[in-house]
Amino acid sequence: MGGDARFKRSENDFSNLFARDLLPAKNGEEPTMQFLLEVVEILTNYVKKTFDRSTKVLDFHHPHQLLEGMEGFNLELSEQPESLEQILVDCRDTLKYGVRTGHPRFFNQLSTGLDIVGLAGEWLTSTANTNMFTYEIAPVFVLMEQLTLKKMREIVGWPDGEGDGIFSPGGAISNMYSVMIARYKFFPEVKTKGMTAAPRLILFTSEHSHYSIKKASAALGLGTENLILLKTDERGRVIPADLEAKVIEAKQKGSVPLFVNATAGTTVYGAFDPINEIADICEKYNIWLHVDGAWGGGLLMSRKHRHKLSGVERANSVTWNPHKMMGVPLQCSAILVRERGLLQGCNSMCAGYLFQPDKQYDVTYDTGDKAIQCGRHVDIFKFWLMWKAKVCTITFLCKHQLCTNTTAPSCFCTVHSIPKVAPKIKAMMMESGTTMVGYQPQGEKVNFFRMVISNPAATMSDIDFLIEEIERLGQDL
Ligand SMILES: *Cc1c(COP(=O)(O)O)cnc(C)c1O
Repeated sequence: MGGDARFKRSENDFSNLFARDLLPAKNGEEPTMQFLLEVVEILTNYVKKTFDRSTKVLDFHHPHQLLEGMEGFNLELSEQPESLEQILVDCRDTLKYGVRTGHPRFFNQLSTGLDIVGLAGEWLTSTANTNMFTYEIAPVFVLMEQLTLKKMREIVGWPDGEGDGIFSPGGAISNMYSVMIARYKFFPEVKTKGMTAAPRLILFTSEHSHYSIKKASAALGLGTENLILLKTDERGRVIPADLEAKVIEAKQKGSVPLFVNATAGTTVYGAFDPINEIADICEKYNIWLHVDGAWGGGLLMSRKHRHKLSGVERANSVTWNPHKMMGVPLQCSAILVRERGLLQGCNSMCAGYLFQPDKQYDVTYDTGDKAIQCGRHVDIFKFWLMWKAKVCTITFLCKHQLCTNTTAPSCFCTVHSIPKVAPKIKAMMMESGTTMVGYQPQGEKVNFFRMVISNPAATMSDIDFLIEEIERLGQDL
């Protein structure tokens, strides 16, 4: 903590201190400092333990156990204010019974890892506690967002980074934006008149694509039956000829093909759809092309791997989740749009209490009306900070990461012939808390482990550990 006495944590008794003693209370400064230093101690201890292989990934309890209450830790909301001592215990125990997603042996999700600079960014963001809707109250963050989005568009390959975009609460929402904007581009009157102003619109996506595309078609009133699934090859990539055949078929039926989603890094196989070939078809039939790079978008930062997304610059919109492969703390997802003005046109409502046109500054920086949200969390700062801390030129932000689930399914799936094996092993794995990996069936394949490695803390030995652990746990089955 350094030598400055002001920042020394003293052995404090928090049992007689309450929230009302903290700032803005009179003389609240001292208890506030002591309390926050204690919290920081808890958090930094957690960070240390996260990277310690002798600790468990999780201390699993069933919902009823946690609901009944653990020793000293009760989820019930109390009638009376609790002392700060209890509040600190609650902080400690909340972390204790949670899952260490940054642990080197956590492989359960596409978003893993605990980036220290990103964490610092998130702490600062919470401290600033502002809202992204206007420049008025988030001047620095709004500019950071504009600048970073432009950089991302340059990396996508749009001339001079032209275009538009916004950070959204995750890839599913970013994908939903893409469908909305596509519809607005071709049928702007839907904004005011609703779906009766449009013909029957058809969307196309891979059978391996993320379910959020389907969710978007339901939520936006297009209907899940109007989402056509495309066949994939043996590595899980869309077969372009199948797209063209289905586009022609839809047109013959009198429907209007509106939107094609190409996935750059599918959620299960890590497959990259052939964007150029899909773009040819979209151009031929005048269809919006979206690239869902929620997972694989991070590879655009890599000179070595960005070819997997070649043709991405031909997309009309791109989803890119820095909170996945790039290890930015949750949440951080961007929707990038090639044509400027569509986001604004599609979503703006010009609320008079927020977006007054007669402010003293350039109100084009009041970007909040482009969003479907009103208030919007500051997701940009941690990302901007990490970018600054790690890359001077556009190279490879996740250089040290063993990125991606590769494109060959056999490399990452431990395929078992019996569907019950993987869930059984996973259950034992969670009870023992030593490691975590996801499982699922896919098409004809029964449950297999979806082995995704994007945690920068993981080494080869952790992967060996996981495999040995699967073997050990499965021994008695
Ligand atoms: C994870 C993922 C999404 C959804 O992103 P969230 O941030 O979880 O909403 C969408 N598409 C793909 C390909 C993904 O891997």
